[in-house]
Amino acid sequence: MPCRFESGPGHQTLDDLGAKTRNIAGFLFLYDFIFMSMSFDNQYHRLRRRRLAESTREFLARGKSVARCELCQLASYACICNWRPRLASRCEFVLLMHRDEVFKPTNTGRLIADVLPGQTHVFCWSRTEPEPALLNLLADPARLCLLVFPVENAPGHALVSHLPSGDQRIPTFILLDGTWKQSGRMFHLSRWLDGIACIKLPDTRERGYAVRKSHQEDYVSTAEAAALCMAVANEEDNARVLSDYFALFNHHYLATRGSYPPDVSELHKRLELFKGSG
Ligand SMILES: [Zn+2]
Repeated sequence: MPCRFESGPGHQTLDDLGAKTRNIAGFLFLYDFIFMSMSFDNQYHRLRRRRLAESTREFLARGKSVARCELCQLASYACICNWRPRLASRCEFVLLMHRDEVFKPTNTGRLIADVLPGQTHVFCWSRTEPEPALLNLLADPARLCLLVFPVENAPGHALVSHLPSGDQRIPTFILLDGTWKQSGRMFHLSRWLDGIACIKLPDTRERGYAVRKSHQEDYVSTAEAAALCMAVANEEDNARVLSDYFALFNHHYLATRGSYPPDVSELHKRLELFKGSG
């Protein structure tokens, strides 16, 4: 299925964008340096820039052209960047993104990188060629790695529902960021994930994802799953802020899709208290 953007510059294709980006390949290092020196940059943004530079896949603009924020990818009039919270957490996240997910406007994994930029490690998933930095993370004895995938009786994977008390390792939650079907394939085909325990998330949070619906009853978006992970780590306040940010993203995404400015609500006021410096 081709990557599609809801809007963009006319019928510009990823070929066009890729070519343009390749034309300035010599400046990519400088580009990265500039972004990295700005406090709002994170590993998702870096991966997206890299994939844009590499990509030869076509996408077609849908609907009329809309000016978009370069960071949150929402329409400029519905940009969420002013409400992006910054959290302090002992948790870290490994976001394994399916390659199709990197450019999807509906992707919510990137919200985790927004709120925990220094603690969210983002990789493009590869069945056979996982990045060495990813394998190093998974093998790091200072980490308690837990795979967020709701499966019972999976050979090679213990199933846990809470963090062991007194464990000083860094809780490191591995999230498979793709459609339900893609996430299943990523789980079953990644032999390098063998031996990592799966975490069963509590089923208590209200499901609020209005953007991308699933036929799976137990489907949660990636951002919702991350909020539940923080709740499991006894970080309820962080879980609530991430849930609010996710709700705000939904609200503004629907406004972008409907071409209307989002109204400002209690949600915005709550998030302003946690606003980052970026
Ligand atoms: Zn924005």
